[in-house]
Amino acid sequence: MLPASLDEAVSAMAESPGAVPVAGGTDLMGAVNAGLLRPMALLGLGRVTELRGWQYQDGAALLGAGLTHARMARPDFAALIPALAEAAATVGPPQVRNVGTLGGNIVSAHPAGDTLPVLAALEATVTLVGPEGGREVAVSHLLTGLDPLRSGELLAYVRVPLLHAPQVFLKAGGRTGPSRAVASVSLVLDPARRAVRCAVGAVAPVPLRPLEAEQWVAGCIDWDGERTVDPGVAQAFGEYVASACVPDAGTEGGAARTDAAPTAARLRRTVSVLARRALGRALK
Ligand SMILES: Cc1cc2nc3c(=O)[nH]c(=O)nc-3n(C[C@H](O)[C@H](O)[C@H](O)COP(=O)(O)OP(=O)(O)OC[C@H]3O[C@@H](n4cnc5c(N)ncnc54)[C@H](O)[C@@H]3O)c2cc1C
Repeated sequence: MLPASLDEAVSAMAESPGAVPVAGGTDLMGAVNAGLLRPMALLGLGRVTELRGWQYQDGAALLGAGLTHARMARPDFAALIPALAEAAATVGPPQVRNVGTLGGNIVSAHPAGDTLPVLAALEATVTLVGPEGGREVAVSHLLTGLDPLRSGELLAYVRVPLLHAPQVFLKAGGRTGPSRAVASVSLVLDPARRAVRCAVGAVAPVPLRPLEAEQWVAGCIDWDGERTVDPGVAQAFGEYVASACVPDAGTEGGAARTDAAPTAARLRRTVSVLARRALGRALK
């Protein structure tokens, strides 16, 4: 099935309840080829052009779920939502970026999905459409399963507030070159609310928000002046974020102390460095 519009796609889903939507296919076809999934039918979203662009709406950008990572990495998009463009530019090799989509990244909900911490830090929402109409759900609620995608629904749009302030995405991979994140950090400044929002990806099943660290560092920023902090503050912020998001296996008893401590300690250091650098770059 190859619907040409969102309405057609929603109708096709209702007519074939077993059909599975496919956008770029980079996640889905891997699962099919590995024999993990045997869909009764596939619903190709590639011809639904209204899902491939974006528009402005009430101080936010409404992004089509079919935006590819390659498209989001381009300069015009980077001027709009820099952290999302940075995340998209780090996804896999070019062949994957050329066809893999924002919507697919969200619905796959892989812990190392690169767009996910950015969307969490930006407090983005998604529009899900189904036979009963559309509804708006926080990305964090979708990812945690608090408000999951229902049968017959498609992810149509992602609503991202435009903050017009520095925002950063940093990723540490397991090897040189394109690779899945071992840890990632997205940090955004929200000067209107005098807030810093930060999300850590890949260290847990869903992106984590270190809320206390966010509030503490926001209180250290000279918002009316140069927007700087003392050098020690960035270091302390990194450690605060890491201790909030990576469990300290070394302080727990039993086997965890000997087996998991080095890995946990390394991961903490990585997150700490990423968070410190992200803050430094946002305030530069
Ligand atoms: C070699 C390789 C490297 C990769 N590296 C990275 C990486 O570094 N970082 C990263 O984040 N990801 C990576 N990925 C994963 C993948 O490319 C991304 O998650 C991509 O964004 C998925 O998008 P897609 O359009 O290909 O999704 P698809 O494979 O088409 O779909 C994925 C899932 O989402 C559902 N779906 C898709 N669109 C919709 C929609 N609009 N509404 C409802 N459901 C929908 C599908 O049914 C399926 O369950 C990699 C993949 C490969 C093969």
